[in-house]
Amino acid sequence: MKFALFSFFILAGSACAAPSLDPPKLRLDGSAQPISYAVDLTIVPNSDTFRGSVDINVDVRTPADVIWLNSISLQIQEADFRQESGAVSSAKTLPGGGEFVGFSFDHAISGRGVLHASYQGKISRNSSAGIFQLKEDRDWYVYSQFEPTDARRAFPCFDEPSFKVPWQLTLHVPKDDLALSNTPAQSESKEANGMKMVRFKPSPPLPSYLVAFAVGRFDVVDAGKVGPTPVRVIVPKGKSSDAAYAALAIPKLLKLLEDYFGIPFPYEKLDSVVMPISDFAMENAGLITYAETTLLADPATETIEHKRELAGTTAHEMAHQWFGDLVTTAWWNDTWLNEAFATWMERKIPGEWQPGWHLDVTAINARLGAMRGDDLASAREIRQPIQNNDDIANAFDDITYEKGAAVIEMFEHWIGEAKFREGVQHYLKQHAWGNATASDFEAAMSSVAGRNVAPAFNSFLDQPGVPEVSVALKCETQPVLAVSQKRSLPVGSRAEAQTWQIPICIAFEADGSVRHQCSLLSDPKDEIALTGAQTCPSWILPNDGESGYYQVDYQGDLLKKVLAGQASHLSIAERVGVLGDVDSLATEGEVSAQVALALVPEFSKDPDWHVVQTAANIAALLKGGSVPSNLREKGARFIRQEFGQKARALGWIAKPDDNDDTRLLRQKLVPFVAGTGEEKELIEQAETLARQWLGTRRGVDPEMLEPVLRIAAEFGNRDLFNALRAAAIQEREHHVREVLLQALGSFRDPELARASLDLLLSKEFDPRESFYPLLFGPVAYADTRDVPFEFVKQHLDALLKRLPREVGEDYAAMLPSVGGSFCDAKRRSELDSFFADRVKDYNGGPRTLAQTLEAIDLCIAARKSLTPELTAFLNQY
Ligand SMILES: [Zn+2]
Repeated sequence: MKFALFSFFILAGSACAAPSLDPPKLRLDGSAQPISYAVDLTIVPNSDTFRGSVDINVDVRTPADVIWLNSISLQIQEADFRQESGAVSSAKTLPGGGEFVGFSFDHAISGRGVLHASYQGKISRNSSAGIFQLKEDRDWYVYSQFEPTDARRAFPCFDEPSFKVPWQLTLHVPKDDLALSNTPAQSESKEANGMKMVRFKPSPPLPSYLVAFAVGRFDVVDAGKVGPTPVRVIVPKGKSSDAAYAALAIPKLLKLLEDYFGIPFPYEKLDSVVMPISDFAMENAGLITYAETTLLADPATETIEHKRELAGTTAHEMAHQWFGDLVTTAWWNDTWLNEAFATWMERKIPGEWQPGWHLDVTAINARLGAMRGDDLASAREIRQPIQNNDDIANAFDDITYEKGAAVIEMFEHWIGEAKFREGVQHYLKQHAWGNATASDFEAAMSSVAGRNVAPAFNSFLDQPGVPEVSVALKCETQPVLAVSQKRSLPVGSRAEAQTWQIPICIAFEADGSVRHQCSLLSDPKDEIALTGAQTCPSWILPNDGESGYYQVDYQGDLLKKVLAGQASHLSIAERVGVLGDVDSLATEGEVSAQVALALVPEFSKDPDWHVVQTAANIAALLKGGSVPSNLREKGARFIRQEFGQKARALGWIAKPDDNDDTRLLRQKLVPFVAGTGEEKELIEQAETLARQWLGTRRGVDPEMLEPVLRIAAEFGNRDLFNALRAAAIQEREHHVREVLLQALGSFRDPELARASLDLLLSKEFDPRESFYPLLFGPVAYADTRDVPFEFVKQHLDALLKRLPREVGEDYAAMLPSVGGSFCDAKRRSELDSFFADRVKDYNGGPRTLAQTLEAIDLCIAARKSLTPELTAFLNQY
């Protein structure tokens, strides 16, 4: 049944072009198209190679001497084309410049037939591209990861998302291993040499990037059924008990997703498979892969944050099963739609399940974070044309995920929640089992909204930047809100001015009642009539629900009014959004830092921890790089005065009757006052607790382990360094090792920071685990800011040898970020001259360098206005 639309897809495929003897540059030419695949692989964990054969049912639409397919690092042994008539033409292979292989025939072939190839390929141990293996205890496990363009490392194929056809996999594996794929096994039989053959059922139409398998001595945790769908969690041997929360959350979230989409889960089963060490999750149809730290936790030490992260990530990947898998974007220029939607769902759906988690606030903090990157002149637009494989890999970034999610949130609020959902359902039903584009999505939304929403939507997709909306209230006659828009430009920015079509939704209180209204701001300036207001509003919130992707610049006393009286008329999310805007604008030098800091005393006492945390972010301006060093102690004292009492009362150790919110406040506030506020008593307590924990593994609440170890390390000595290093080497639990590595990257003593960087070159840690915490940890502190760049300069070759370098996960691309907190011209030019030529060899490296250099420029410019303001504030204080 599910294959019914398959013939439609073939007919709707791209137009043919004459086949060429030269390998394609980026895309296949469409002269031959797949109809279905049968793949046969022999996979032995602990072996570095695999054998394979593939039989592709193809339709050669234009007679061709050569058929080009995608292929990387595959050694083709023999190949032929078997026509429906029975005639067999053997093929020679032509080299295709790294990404392709050509099958060349003596005579032109055409029509339907089977393209057959047998080959050998590689199983990687240091990268997750293609087929790779990971070790847990003494056992090796093999996985596949094909998105975006690595299926071609496992089989020669038409490796583009619009070739969406059925696949049948057959795996030959050691007899005691479990073999899994997108579909359930159809048959299993014994083979010679301790092997067995597992043949899986043919899949519904799938693009190559969603095909997947996993092999190893897994244990299986049954998580019951959702409707007819069996749900399982697949874990490395002996880890079943750590899957308890995953087995509880996944079926609950799956049911909520079915309800939202109004379509049952599209595949026959849902397995969630754990990968040790890795740091990603992948929405393979029916076989989602997750990093071990995301999916597993010892129930005795599991934190609220881990539960939230687990729910968010699983909701994201499961949302893709409909949005991405059932309906697949036709090409990688629409990666944003896929990822933005799933990111938006990762808060929406768990938020429905656990309203107490306040995931709407998480969404706002994510929006504020995305805006910080989007403010750069070098920011890219959400939707970008794809010119090469680099562009495909680069599209999986914060702009795609978080700005994209924030823009979807804005349009949901504007169109209305129920109608938006109707639009999503309409889009999915219309394109089920096939491909679609962003225009199709916009068309579905316009049809339910009763208006063309595409121009407004596109104004956010096709240009970078954050709109800044300046608002002033005019009450001379009928009250109106005077609004104007421009691109938010940090002081010193060279970006060009531009406008958007912004859905502006506002809330205000007038004549004793609160009213909400939305309108579209298309012009640079406009006046919005406040419908129903007879008298001047007592307050006005120009970003209702804080769901719009724009920053508000309040004119006159509007900010004071909206925040008056602890802002009890605002939701938690709205208080965080308003304060977050003020914080961003102050950091960029667009709003006076003194105005922002004046808000701290009031909001440091807010009953909600999210708001306190936002106030703490504003206060952190007083310890940033723009504060003259002789005033830094005064900055710390301000932080202790405003937050210290609360932090000391909370202490490092939870009390038996603490609720989740108190525990989360403790986790954020106590290390802030200890670290940024340099509160001695809390630092000493952290040191004592850290030593106690390292000795006995007791005495620290699970959610406090990371902050306790980090603060102890920030102020710690060589002894502590050695103890942390020894503990990290011995630690078996990935998430505890992660915390230990973070602590090792947090020493403020430059000599110890250098010692921790040396661990990047040691065999004791997998670079995929150690790279981020060890290399970028020291960038955060004034005393160690220069250390990582010096290290990279000295050890570049040795470092590059240890890092995964595949397209899409080229760790080298991140190296220029070691200069991320430089704020002077000299260091800027050193960074530039060191990396300018080198980054050309790193996939995505030039962009990282450009963004880092721009961030340094902006920091230098902002410092000019911030330093006098912060000095004035601290001198008066
Ligand atoms: Zn995703």
